[in-house]
Amino acid sequence: MARTLLDKVWEAHTVRTLPSGQTQLLIGLHLIHEVTTPQAFQMLKELKLKVRMPERTFGTLDHIIPTTDQSRPYADPEAEEMAAHMYRNMKDFALPFFDMSTGKQGIVHVIGPELGLTQPGMTIACGDSHTSTHGAVGAIAFGIGTTQVRDILATQCLSMAKPKLRQVRVEGTLDKGVYAKDVILAIIGTLGVKGGVGYAYEYAGDTIDRMTMEERLTLCNMSIEGGARFGYVNPDATTVEYLRGRPYAPQGDAFDRAAAWWKTIATEPGAAFDDVKRLDAGAIEPVVTWGINPGMSVGISDKIPVPEDQPEAERPTFREALAHMGFAAGQPIKGAKIDVAFVGSCTNGRLSDLRAAAEVAKKGKVASHVRALIVPGSQQVAKAAEAEGLPEIFQAAGFQWRKAGCSMCLGMNDDKLQGREMSASSSNRNFIGRQGSPTGRTLLMSPAMVAAAAITGAVADVREILK
Ligand code: SF4
Repeated sequence: MARTLLDKVWEAHTVRTLPSGQTQLLIGLHLIHEVTTPQAFQMLKELKLKVRMPERTFGTLDHIIPTTDQSRPYADPEAEEMAAHMYRNMKDFALPFFDMSTGKQGIVHVIGPELGLTQPGMTIACGDSHTSTHGAVGAIAFGIGTTQVRDILATQCLSMAKPKLRQVRVEGTLDKGVYAKDVILAIIGTLGVKGGVGYAYEYAGDTIDRMTMEERLTLCNMSIEGGARFGYVNPDATTVEYLRGRPYAPQGDAFDRAAAWWKTIATEPGAAFDDVKRLDAGAIEPVVTWGINPGMSVGISDKIPVPEDQPEAERPTFREALAHMGFAAGQPIKGAKIDVAFVGSCTNGRLSDLRAAAEVAKKGKVASHVRALIVPGSQQVAKAAEAEGLPEIFQAAGFQWRKAGCSMCLGMNDDKLQGREMSASSSNRNFIGRQGSPTGRTLLMSPAMVAAAAITGAVADVREILK
């Protein structure tokens, strides 16, 4: 019987089936950062346990670090304490640590693929929801909580139920100015933020086949926002070429052997899925969220929906969203005034994202009332962007060029919205308070759309600027 990638990778990592029916899974790669590990390491120390597979455990600093002056001690005592714990734990347990001195530091979901740590056929876990990003290379990758971080540190295993599998097929050609971010926002908008509960998503179809690895990383990053436990793209020639030569990928003959194996783990023709959904890529226009979850979105030429047109059960959330955002039902999203523009995060902080934003930044100057930040996803992204002269393009247009980190994606450092500021953001969550202000407002969109909003001072259609 034809099998899916999920079947094959799950089976290859099954240690045993537990009496509960869950699977004890071996975790091939455990990525860790400063926010979800201090308690896990503390528990390990109290139990006098070692890290079971230190060679499969890698750490970085991302959530709390400042993006301006990164010299320590950090001005924020809480951030300094988390960083201090991370340094101490990585030293005590002798684990590889990509801190600022290595030139490899960055957001955990940016550096994993960038360094070639993330490979097809792996099981990957990290104490962060957006671990689903790594599925782009054909891995089964999911976020976990602090107790599970402890369990993996101690045993390299996790108990988990195998989800059902939905294939999400996207077919057709994307319009100029429409990006992977728009595709995933359209998928979530169509299937709903809870549409994926109980499922993993396999992304397929000719639109996905043509995507670069960076586009696939954006796509898989937001699987979790659609309720899916994880999402993946089958490995293909794009995957192999992306990984070739990366420092932690196999080298020489070993790479060719690995690449041959990676291709065998792809879903076989004729494999059955629990569900299949289809989207027409040609019908997707630049998407902008207008509400308080990533499913509350519209195309740039659409109007904000009317609660009364929604199913009864969803109307209260729609009304809450309109009240929080200060929008009127039926109002066009285009033209909504913004105060802050943020390009960055593990969704859209890679080189191709910065290039797309820079293309737009060349066309104008940041509006005088807008604060605009460009935050590379990693030190390596920053270095590559600097080699191409992207910071100069951004700075000439009035954007601030920052150092790598999570930054305003969640506002755990100084990069926060103030009061009711409205942000055009390339990140992945528009929950109330997400960007550091309890009354702040977030509009999710692609990096090019963020740049368009920055120079226009309001939500704009990037296709008109790129013409
Ligand atoms: S960029 Fe945002 S979503 Fe990604 S790891 Fe950092 S805080 Fe989490």
